[in-house]
Amino acid sequence: MNYISTRGAGIGERHTFSGILLGGLAKDGGLYLPAEYPRVPANELARWRTLSYADLAFEVLSKFSDDIPADDLRALTRRTYKADVYCNVRDSESAAQITPLKPLGVESGAQLSLLELSNGPTLAFKDMAMQLLGNLFEYTLGTTGQTLNILGATSGDTGSAAEYAMRGKKGIRVFMLSPHRKMSAFQTAQMYSLQDPNIFNIAVDGVFDDCQDIVKAVSNDHAFKANYKIGTVNSINWARVVAQVVYYFKGYFAATKSNDERVSFTVPSGNFGNVCAGHIARMMGLPIEKLVVATNENDVLDEFFTSGIYRVRGSAETYHTSSPSMDISKASNFERFVFDLLGRDPKRVLQLFRDVEEQGGFDLAASGDFARVREFGFVSGSSTHADRVEAIRDVHRRYDTMIDTHTADGLKVAREHLQAGIPMIVLETAQPLKFGETIREALAREPERPAAFAGLEALPQRFEVLPADVQQVKDFIAANVRD
Ligand SMILES: *Cc1c(COP(=O)(O)O)cnc(C)c1O
Repeated sequence: MNYISTRGAGIGERHTFSGILLGGLAKDGGLYLPAEYPRVPANELARWRTLSYADLAFEVLSKFSDDIPADDLRALTRRTYKADVYCNVRDSESAAQITPLKPLGVESGAQLSLLELSNGPTLAFKDMAMQLLGNLFEYTLGTTGQTLNILGATSGDTGSAAEYAMRGKKGIRVFMLSPHRKMSAFQTAQMYSLQDPNIFNIAVDGVFDDCQDIVKAVSNDHAFKANYKIGTVNSINWARVVAQVVYYFKGYFAATKSNDERVSFTVPSGNFGNVCAGHIARMMGLPIEKLVVATNENDVLDEFFTSGIYRVRGSAETYHTSSPSMDISKASNFERFVFDLLGRDPKRVLQLFRDVEEQGGFDLAASGDFARVREFGFVSGSSTHADRVEAIRDVHRRYDTMIDTHTADGLKVAREHLQAGIPMIVLETAQPLKFGETIREALAREPERPAAFAGLEALPQRFEVLPADVQQVKDFIAANVRD
């Protein structure tokens, strides 16, 4: 399996899965994709139907990472996808499923279900990929004797998923910047209560944008970056995308009896990483009818899929909503889909994303390419705070099920795209406990709390407060990196 950049640099070069694992963007600013998508023939799809999650993950991943010996990869997926890691299930019988499918009911002739992706250590779907990334990083660094210092900025979900994936991993340290006193008590406790010596929480006196600017400034200091072996785990990481492909297969098998059936998926979306994985599953031959992109008030993606116009917004135009992990106005993985939409023409991709940088977007409405969006199964919708509150109430009343605000965005939009006879699977991206304020507003009660989280907010916390100052963050990293 060879990887290529969406912008065409280095055609003819060899890039393996392990080779691009620890890096970010390709050197021309593009994103890596496989030179071609592996197809899953009918007999193989039939064989996969009964596999455990870990073994299904092995089968999917091995098609993309043929440079990792099969025995090592299988050991890695079995170590990653264990019931005791995804133990925050509400129904203990389904723990072994890792991503259990929860049927809600039949609406407009379609079976509506939730695919639970948030039973991992931080109660958000990002654990699904990040836990694998932790083990992949440790494995790859171990084979070469290297070390890695992960630097990131977070306003919640990504940072905690990264910390829980990397804690205790050999050769890895995490320096995670978060805005001091700006996260919820729960999210703060989730991150800051980690006592592992390789995890460094840096509480920056400032807002999230300050944290992000510091990370950018440090990453742009190439000498510092090389000297201190700085890396990232952001959502463009290819291994994260491919790890997410697995649960589309798992969800499909859980919702169908034979491989002649088709299903649709609705995906609460921000950076387009999750739904990009669904697109890849479809390109591999999984019988997906529709991929429904759900956004909140930050509706850049919905605007594109309904009009053909991609217009990114600045931070001043980005709303702070009650589904904050989708408050994104420039979808970092979108370029991967555009590459496929344009028939994999890197010159045009390069031009379009130059237009994004220089003019804030591009317009495909008049081009024949936009019509192909439907061939790829994509449709979309958006929701508001009132929609979320209503969806949370409705699902609780009708199906006795509590959902979080992001999943509520998905559910609201899914209902606009139901087709009789085609199961609709809404990806559950977080548990309600993470976004308790809206649960209290919608249901006038506290969110459900998995047993492992009892008393979390009272645990001792370990963090370093620093001013929003690049040099002081660099000094802190330097003082804590000793090999
Ligand atoms: C990250 C996140 C999303 C958005 O996923 P993308 O892959 O960025 O599209 C949605 N919901 C929750 C809870 C998240 O943490």
